[in-house]
Parts: sequence; C-alpha cells; structure tokens
Amino acid sequence: MRHDIVVVGGGPVGAAAALSLHDAGFDVALVERGAAPPRWNASDYDLRVYALAPASQQLLDELGVWDTMVAARVSPYTRMRVWERGPESALQFSAADAFRSQLGWIVEHGLITSTLWQRLQALPIFTQAEIESVQFDDGAAGVNLRDGRRLEARLVVAADGADSQMRRLAGIETLSWRYDQRAIVAHVQTSQPHRDTAWQRFLKTGPLAFLPLADGRASIVWSADDAQADALLALDDAAFCDRLARASEFVLGDVLQTTARIGVPLKLMHARDYTAPGMVLIGDAAHAVHPLAGQGANLGFADVAALTATLVQARSAGRDWSSPRTLARYVRQRKAHNLEMLALTDTLYRAFRPSLPGLRGALGFGMGALNRSAPLKAWLAGRAAKA
Ligand SMILES: Cc1cc2nc3c(=O)[nH]c(=O)nc-3n(C[C@H](O)[C@H](O)[C@H](O)COP(=O)(O)OP(=O)(O)OC[C@H]3O[C@@H](n4cnc5c(N)ncnc54)[C@H](O)[C@@H]3O)c2cc1C
Repeated sequence: MRHDIVVVGGGPVGAAAALSLHDAGFDVALVERGAAPPRWNASDYDLRVYALAPASQQLLDELGVWDTMVAARVSPYTRMRVWERGPESALQFSAADAFRSQLGWIVEHGLITSTLWQRLQALPIFTQAEIESVQFDDGAAGVNLRDGRRLEARLVVAADGADSQMRRLAGIETLSWRYDQRAIVAHVQTSQPHRDTAWQRFLKTGPLAFLPLADGRASIVWSADDAQADALLALDDAAFCDRLARASEFVLGDVLQTTARIGVPLKLMHARDYTAPGMVLIGDAAHAVHPLAGQGANLGFADVAALTATLVQARSAGRDWSSPRTLARYVRQRKAHNLEMLALTDTLYRAFRPSLPGLRGALGFGMGALNRSAPLKAWLAGRAAKA
C-alpha cells in the first residue's frame, strides 16, 4: 500500500501526529506495535497522567479531541509551588499572575490516546505490527512488517518512543545517560485538599510531585535513586503513605490511602539528528527528559504542531514537502528548543543533588541555586505561566 506518510508509534505523540497530518490533507497510515488503546472507562483511573501546557491543549483542541477529554475527566491546576525545605518558603506561580484561568491540566495518558484513536478510525491502522526492516530509495520509504506486509510512503514519521526501533534502523545516534533513578507513580488520598495546585518538593534524593486529580486525590511522581525506589516500592501501603507524608513535609496533611505503585526508570536522551533520508523523528523518539519538569509529552506535541505546519507550508509553496530541505526547517524549529529544555531540566535536577557535579559547583545547592539562577527561575515561571 502506498501512502504519503507512515507514522510509526500510536502513543500520544504519534496518534496526534497521524491525526494532525490527516486533517492537513495527507494520506496517512499508522503502525503500532501494541494493541489499540482500550476504550476509556471512567472507573479506571490511569496511573500515567501528564501535566499538559496550554500549547498542548491548543493542539488537542484543533484536533477536535479536547472537548471530549474535558467531558470525560481533566483536572485544571491554577497554582504551582516549588520548595526544598518548609513549604511556607515555596516559590509560587499562579494562573492569576499570568492573567490566565489555569496554568495547565492534568490528563490521563489513556484518555489522551483513546480519544485520539477514536478520531483516527478513518485511517488505515496496523496494530500488533512488528517492523522487520525499512528501506529508503529515490525519496520513498518501504516499511516491511514481519507478517510480510509492506507499506510505502514518501515519509516515515517515527514516534515509537525513547527506545525507537526506527531511529536505530536509520542509524541515528543518541546522546543519553541514565539517572539511575526511578519515578514512583501512584494516586493518593490526602487528608487536606490539593487546592488545584501542583506541588513539587526537591529532596536531596530526587524531586517529589503531587499533581491534583479531578476526584480530589493527587497523582504522585516520586523520583528516587534505584535502591531507595526499590525500598519504597517494597513497603506496605501504610508504611509507604507514612514515608510519603513525611517526605512532603505534610504539605497536604496525612496520606491516607494509595493505589498500587509503579516504578519507571528515568533517563535523558537526545537524538543527534532528527532526520534521515525519508524519515523524521518526533516525541520521545527524538528526546526524553526527566519528568521533574512535566515536559516530555508537551515537547512531543510541539514537535507535531511544527512538523505539520512545516509540511503544509512546503506543499502550499509548491516545494517538495518530504525533501531533506523541508525537514531541515522542522529541525531548526524544534531542536534548539528541545535541547534547551533537556539542559534546563537536567540542570534543575542536579541543582538539588548534593552528590552530583554541575550547577552545585557554580552556584551552590538547592533553592539558593535556583533563586540565584535567573534562567532557571525564568524558565520555571514561564513553564508555569505559558509553556
Ligand atoms: C513518571 C513520568 C511522568 C511524566 N509526566 C509528564 C508530564 O507531566 N507532562 C508531560 O508532558 N510528559 C510527561 N512525561 C513524559 C511522557 O510520558 C512522554 O514524553 C510521552 O509518553 C511521549 O509520548 P510518545 O508518543 O512520544 O512516546 P510513547 O508514549 O513511548 O509511545 C510510543 C508508542 O510507540 C509504540 N512503539 C514502540 N516501538 C514501536 C515499533 N517498533 N513499531 C511500532 N510501534 C512502536 C509503543 O507501543 C507506543 O504506543 C512523563 C514521563 C514519566 C516517565
């Protein structure tokens, strides 16, 4: 089958890309290694939630899926508080200061993917599809599936996540390091209300966030070194709730209940190139960041908006929309911005780790370092207000 574009990976970023490019008039097919996301079910609260910035909301709105998500369940947050010791000394960012109604929204991963996939039904979609190889000849790509089927396209959009097979097949190298940390994710009930606020404490062992959920609970992301994460995951619920409340300095009172917990290994990764002949990388396939800044999916959605705009512009101007020259425009728009986010996130992470070199040497450690670093503070404020 011959298409304009084959998108590989139907996660939040790939699904948004497939829909955005389809809406722009390209003939798009989607290949996903797993199954289609299950229909969203209000009684299942997905443990993976994302803090979405206004630009991501705008993209989802343009794709015609935002109202459906709001009708299902999203949680706007209006304030963000960041502290190291003593929540009363927290840096505070509020929507009101930025003349907005909210700073962002907490949205479940499963709600994003299932809503996007609902709108993708008109497209050819290949699920449970293993890719065997990819060939690039004369400006066309051939994607060979393990079951013998072959898809042809002028452009392959690789959105197959941080361990991207497509990136490997294209021979694109990466810069990456493991944080030797895991993010422990769970939803918890606290004795005090979250007040529509995203709370983040920087502990010496890693950041701890409480994100407000629509049902009054908080979604926690607790990043800790591997050994500590193992110990926290092994605790029974009561002991875990107690450790969590103490780690948060009881900012939301006691932690009364927790769901099951999962631990996600954390790494930083950046692809040296975002393109190869006939292929372009978007989302986590191009860049993976520490979740302390809640930026991964937001960066991916920004890639989607930039890629669609670039291809449409080239097509309207009568230029070859899949040429290396066109794709270089997309790279120019996104690479510097993504790298800046990667660097700032990594710097922020190191600023609070007494055992790590980096900002500590230059600026000191902790909130003092954050306060003294104008770019970091401006970035945090910007991220809170309009990222
Ligand atoms: C603990 C934690 C908290 C986070 N919080 C936030 C947050 O608050 N805000 C935010 O913006 N981001 C957040 N992120 C980051 C966010 O999860 C990622 O940036 C986002 O999932 C990237 O989406 P993606 O579609 O690019 O990749 P993925 O979500 O990894 O999706 C990749 C898709 O490709 C498919 N696939 C993989 N290989 C193949 C293949 N060979 N062929 C076909 N299909 C394939 C996979 O099955 C999957 O469906 C967080 C991450 C973590 C770990």
